[in-house]
Amino acid sequence: MDLRERLEGQTVLSFHRRAKYILMRVENGWSMMLHLGMSGRLLLGQSGMNTTPPKHEHLVLQTENGARAGLVDPRRFGMVDVVPTHQENAHRLLSGLGIEPLSTNMTGPYLHTVLQGRRTPIKTALLDQKLIVGLGNIYVCEALFRSHIHPARAATTLTEEEADSLANAIRTVLEEAIASGGSSLRDYVQADGTKGGFQDLHLVYGREGEVCRQCGAGSTISRITQAGRSTFFCANCQK
Ligand SMILES: [Zn+2]
Repeated sequence: MDLRERLEGQTVLSFHRRAKYILMRVENGWSMMLHLGMSGRLLLGQSGMNTTPPKHEHLVLQTENGARAGLVDPRRFGMVDVVPTHQENAHRLLSGLGIEPLSTNMTGPYLHTVLQGRRTPIKTALLDQKLIVGLGNIYVCEALFRSHIHPARAATTLTEEEADSLANAIRTVLEEAIASGGSSLRDYVQADGTKGGFQDLHLVYGREGEVCRQCGAGSTISRITQAGRSTFFCANCQK
């Protein structure tokens, strides 16, 4: 892989996203593929504005008119690769991925079908990128709460009505999160350096021991660990 050789001097045609990968297509038939990892970010600016590059900046893209995008990734979980544009979907990291959560194919009947035969808890199944992509731990917890489904339920036990409700909740949660700029936990910031606001709208995530915002006093949010990840839920609201 030689990023510079493939990309230098090229005109950027378009940007796309598949799961948590950013794809930048350029004129010569190649695409740059970028994953931000756990805490990586692309910070936009003008070249020459800062004489010292930000700490942990691993890659800089610079355009003719002086715009600059720097990949800053303190924990180094991100990745960058180049792939021929017509083979993007065959890339080893993209080929086995499930459907996009905001696509029109992500419906109750789809969820109901793919969850049949899954004996894992519904929470764990929803984090499986082979079923549905891009749903992180926060959004799975929030979507299960909004659809009143207990996270420890076996995925196979979901009724058609519950699958419909879950599909709607996933869409709503993601749309609200996008509209408020994402969830800033620890160090996540958007491309312009500002924090997201969705963490203030979390109904369960990160609220262990606090009063449930739906059923009120008398019930508090619980936390359990499933497949090594924290799950937050209300035992009173989620059955
Ligand atoms: Zn509740």
